[in-house]
Amino acid sequence: AKEKGKNTYEFFTSDMKTAALKRAQLEKDLHYALQRGELELYYQPQVSLKSGKVIGMEALLRWNHPELGSISPDEFIPLAEESNLIIPIGEWVIREACIQNKKWQETIMPNMRVSVNLSAIQFHQHLLVKVIEQILQEIDLDPQFLEIEITESIAMYNADYVISKLKDLKQIGVKISIDDFGTGYSSLSYLKEFTIDTLKIDRSFINDLDNSGIISTIITMAKYLNLNVIAEGVETVDQILFLKQHLCDEVQGYYFSKPLPAREIEELYSSLNEV
Ligand code: C2E
Ligand code: CA
Ligand code: CA
Ligand code: CA
Repeated sequence: AKEKGKNTYEFFTSDMKTAALKRAQLEKDLHYALQRGELELYYQPQVSLKSGKVIGMEALLRWNHPELGSISPDEFIPLAEESNLIIPIGEWVIREACIQNKKWQETIMPNMRVSVNLSAIQFHQHLLVKVIEQILQEIDLDPQFLEIEITESIAMYNADYVISKLKDLKQIGVKISIDDFGTGYSSLSYLKEFTIDTLKIDRSFINDLDNSGIISTIITMAKYLNLNVIAEGVETVDQILFLKQHLCDEVQGYYFSKPLPAREIEELYSSLNEV
């Protein structure tokens, strides 16, 4: 038993060592990912339940690692946050999404809204609003076609500060959405202080229609606050029917498409809008 205990212990530490090494390697590689052109934005369509048309695209970051292949943002965004690389990476994401959207505006997707995810560290950076304003000017993109997604947890951080930052963002004309809604503790009275446009109902609620009461309550509340509501993680026709019946505005999920590179999303866009 003692022997076994020892082996188990050694196995566990070597496992942790491997994980720590991989982490250190990834963090090192991440420093070069931007300049080596290994980062790429994928896009996932957001479909209006009223018109059946694609009216938005969420930009989702991918890292094409030369040895490890495609790495999920859930794995490298935390590393980027710890090392402050999230600032240049986040700025690249905003610029890249705006450049792509500008092209779409002028070709096959006029009036397309593109949304980008903002990490808490980015949101708290004091230059954020200036940086976004500058990017929009540089690319000459109408600000209303850029949406910033912040999570409900950012919004809980420090009410007065968040409220004034959201006002500054609103002032430059971009749209603001609260991501992963329902996973935090926002109350109705709290939300109404925020100058936001959209609520995105977290995938965990949509997953299971046993949550129908929660979902319909969130939609009712959002309507009361005059907000656009998007349901995330929609995979089945039953979910679509339910959301339509409860007057949800938009849906996003594998039912329509996984996130795809820009070129593939353009093909899909043409076919989705032919229906
Ligand atoms: P998120 O913002 O909540 O994005 C939605 C995630 O759900 C995406 O995972 C998307 O691929 C996935 N998804 C979409 N539809 C479905 C569905 O029908 N079923 C299921 N099971 N999943 C679905 P992804 O692309 O791996 O991104 C994970 C998270 O990484 C994002 O969650 C976001 O928090 C973060 N992230 C992605 N891109 C960026 C970025 O550019 N900057 C920052 N700061 N975070 C990012
Ligand atoms: Ca998001
Ligand atoms: Ca989300
Ligand atoms: Ca999430």
